[in-house]
Amino acid sequence: MHCPYCRHGDSRVIDSRVADDGATIRRRRQCPECERRFTTVEQTQLAVVKRSGVVEPFAREKVVQGVRKACKGRPVSDADLARLGQQVEEAIRQSGQAEVPSETIGLTILGPLSQLDAVAYLRFASVYRHYESADDFEQAIHQLRADRPDDDAVRDGDRPADDVRAAP
Ligand SMILES: [Zn+2]
Repeated sequence: MHCPYCRHGDSRVIDSRVADDGATIRRRRQCPECERRFTTVEQTQLAVVKRSGVVEPFAREKVVQGVRKACKGRPVSDADLARLGQQVEEAIRQSGQAEVPSETIGLTILGPLSQLDAVAYLRFASVYRHYESADDFEQAIHQLRADRPDDDAVRDGDRPADDVRAAP
């Protein structure tokens, strides 16, 4: 690892510390040329296995892009999307797997997305849960109503919210 100050091509590790519950290692390094010190951080590479079998590095930005499409026209801000991206990455890292199928990432997105926006959730779930009929949507909407009784986007117009809350 070269020195960020003088670009010397080598450095010496003088201290290593495990951080983030073992997910990262911070190394304190010293340049043998200018003797200045700097820190490097190593993080395990999270990989995504696509349906085609291609393996690529996990990118939070790709998660956000996919969700942003599903949120088109919905009242979801960039900050909401950034938070969702972070939640998804944390959940994936906590699963302890180094290689994760893209399908799993899609399913992991569903939890936080259902909290964020019901319509975007249904759009996304229809792809990742392979909805094939209107019945699948209807079931998902029932589930959303049970989970989010106060959400206008899923509330049934001709029943008061209290009934929806009590529904099985
Ligand atoms: Zn140096």
